[in-house]
Amino acid sequence: MAASKSVGIRLERKKDASLLNWNLKKTYSPEKVRVPLRCGSRPCVRAGEHVQTGQKIAEPDRPEEVTVYAGIAGTVTEIASIPDPTGATITAVTVQGRAEPKSAPVVWEVRKGWEQISAGEFMMTCQHLGLVTTDLSSEPVHAKVKKNAAARTLIVNCCEPEPYITCEQVLLLSHPVEILKGAELLRKALGAEKILFAFEECNFEVGELIKSKIFFLKWDHAEARAVPALYPQGLEKLLLQNWFPGKEDQAVAFPASTVFAIYEAVAHQKPFYERIVTVGGECVVEPRSLWLPLGTSFRDALHACKGVMREPDKMVMNGPMAGIAQADMNVPVTAGTAAVLALPKEIVKEDPEEPCLRCNLCVDKCPVGISPVMITLAADHGEFGIAAISGAEACIECGNCGYVCPSKRPMLKKIRAAKEGLKTHRIRETAARHG
Ligand code: SF4
Ligand code: SF4
Repeated sequence: MAASKSVGIRLERKKDASLLNWNLKKTYSPEKVRVPLRCGSRPCVRAGEHVQTGQKIAEPDRPEEVTVYAGIAGTVTEIASIPDPTGATITAVTVQGRAEPKSAPVVWEVRKGWEQISAGEFMMTCQHLGLVTTDLSSEPVHAKVKKNAAARTLIVNCCEPEPYITCEQVLLLSHPVEILKGAELLRKALGAEKILFAFEECNFEVGELIKSKIFFLKWDHAEARAVPALYPQGLEKLLLQNWFPGKEDQAVAFPASTVFAIYEAVAHQKPFYERIVTVGGECVVEPRSLWLPLGTSFRDALHACKGVMREPDKMVMNGPMAGIAQADMNVPVTAGTAAVLALPKEIVKEDPEEPCLRCNLCVDKCPVGISPVMITLAADHGEFGIAAISGAEACIECGNCGYVCPSKRPMLKKIRAAKEGLKTHRIRETAARHG
């Protein structure tokens, strides 16, 4: 199963609207947040307790987990199970913001000697300050560093291959030096030799900015490298496959926004309780990328951008290609929420599914070289063994196959169902073997 280089689709970028307001303002403060707790963390506050911005609200139960912090000051009103944007049920701590007068904004002091921090101290800082990666995996940073001890190259992923999403770009344009310094901290903790900043070739201003800062810092161990502006080039798995074929374990990629959070945690001891999110789509009055406390509802995220000018037909978390549709506007922003999109009917209209034409277009456009048509046909018939042989588990859920399919088959939905079916199939097989 070979990955083909630069396979992908040229998509309409739809980023200009949220880039009109590209200056980052201070964090939007909603009246209420429902902070998602991670599986493996236990609340350390009770209903009725007052908390400050950046106060610990849950502690890890396991060494590979992280502490969780409140993103606004207020009163804990509830600790309960709620649905999250991926469809899972999670425990969340609800904090109702304090009525006026509001507490003074928190100023995070610069810590002395932070640039010389040891690898052990780095890991402890990441765990205690709640750092997880800002992609859908939301993996604890210290656990990912530990797992990738063999990596010789750190890739800082500055790409946003999906339409509408601009949060990484805005952060890079606003805080390039902090991201470079965060990358250097991460490189040292990994014991890696080199840093590669990956940016999309159409984002030349980001590339030029990073190159100029590398030059200014006189770093000969860092380089900015362009990725073709083809969807889904720029996703972590493809960067590793294309740049380190057969040696993927020698490199590890982190999103630029995670690297920025690392800088803030180590240099300023700031806990991870907010993230930059693109609120966009044709229905939003003032699309932009902005700081939102974790646990802000999707409804409040829209409100922060002056609401909607027309009722959206579909709400989506992250991009329209691989994002997840949302039926509930109260779901919370999580560490993996890069975008909250309000999309109108003409953009999301779905044509009825027709039978497969065996045209192979989906195979041609699959960036990981598997057979989407075989996986989906197998899924239709509950043949999960065939779905596995056809490469279901290697699918990176980019959505290319569904985008090009002339029969409008909901490929991603079927592939996700195949993966779920495969898990159950394997559990049953194992039970039968031992049973
Ligand atoms: S969603 Fe999966 S099967 Fe479809 S093109 Fe992307 S990687 Fe290939
Ligand atoms: S693109 Fe659609 S119609 Fe063509 S082979 Fe793939 S699933 Fe079938």
